[in-house]
Amino acid sequence: MPASLLDGNKIAAEIRAEAAAAVKAMSGAGLRPGLAVVLAGNNPASEVYVRGKVKACEETGIYSEKHTPSADVTTDELLALVADLNRRDEIDGILVQLPLPPQVDSKKVLLAVDPAKDVDGFHPTNVGYLSTQRPGLVPCTPAGIMEMLVRYGVKIAGQEVVVIGRSDIVGKPMAMLLLNANATVTVCHSKTRDLAGTCRRADILVAAIGRAGMVTRDFVRLGATVIDVGMNRVADADEFRRLFPSNPKREETFRTKGSVLVGDVHPEVAEVAGALTPVPGGVGPLTIAMLMSNTVKAAKMRRGSRGPELLRA
Ligand code: NAP
Repeated sequence: MPASLLDGNKIAAEIRAEAAAAVKAMSGAGLRPGLAVVLAGNNPASEVYVRGKVKACEETGIYSEKHTPSADVTTDELLALVADLNRRDEIDGILVQLPLPPQVDSKKVLLAVDPAKDVDGFHPTNVGYLSTQRPGLVPCTPAGIMEMLVRYGVKIAGQEVVVIGRSDIVGKPMAMLLLNANATVTVCHSKTRDLAGTCRRADILVAAIGRAGMVTRDFVRLGATVIDVGMNRVADADEFRRLFPSNPKREETFRTKGSVLVGDVHPEVAEVAGALTPVPGGVGPLTIAMLMSNTVKAAKMRRGSRGPELLRA
């Protein structure tokens, strides 16, 4: 039986509706959450991401503002901008879109963001809160995956989970969240011996690698839940055929657009997995939804005590 699909659009819509309801209540109490996005330089992909984030704010009722320093911005100029955003009370979340221009010391800029406004959850203070199970801000993509697993009723406690990938943005916080939820977690990476064999142990397999269709059916235990974080654009015809030997819908997209968006999980995995996130429409939509949720959370944690009782929950 083919895997059931875990619908990221559906879960993202739920999360966004909940965030919008919270924003309405907070705005009524004079505490409208606000997000500042910093987009330095002219990276086309970053521009698309930021547009999506600003649009999501509008739809959720969150105040947003965009700062667009030019490509030759210095580290000191960005530090001054971040310091100003840190100071402003109506700004609850600060998102510095990566990558920053090459002359900028990105780590220094990210470290300057007030941890209470760090809606990306990248600041070492928030990383520490996560690993010591204290309230804090958690990176959006892994936090969204946890929401997906919980809302679909996927059992986590006591389960064998394998995470492929150990980035600060996805793999490591994902592993920590699952460990905090009482899973038995194995983290794999490019130096792991017998990757497929290790992955076959998993009740839940999370692939955050950045390699199109690398996770084939021999990585997956029958009935496992597979979360595909990868977002890879495939434009090579041979690679396309390896991934989609007979899929008229994808062929049409490939023909008209010249490329397709593919996850890290090979489509054949649908024949063995119990449940699977599609690409597109799986993990992707959850990331922006969780950014909205994190902005609300940041506003509540920092300013909620100034509002009525319902805002403190
Ligand atoms: P990353 O920083 O490049 O990390 C990739 C990880 O995969 C590294 O830990 C690397 O191991 C491991 N890896 C690479 N090749 C491997 C191999 N052959 N065998 C085993 N492990 C291997 O990437 P990332 O930022 O975590 O992102 C991963 C993917 O998720 C990308 O496709 C990205 O576009 C996507 N993504 C999607 C969303 C979303 O919203 N859907 C959000 C973020 C990222 P080493 O550490 O040993 O190098």
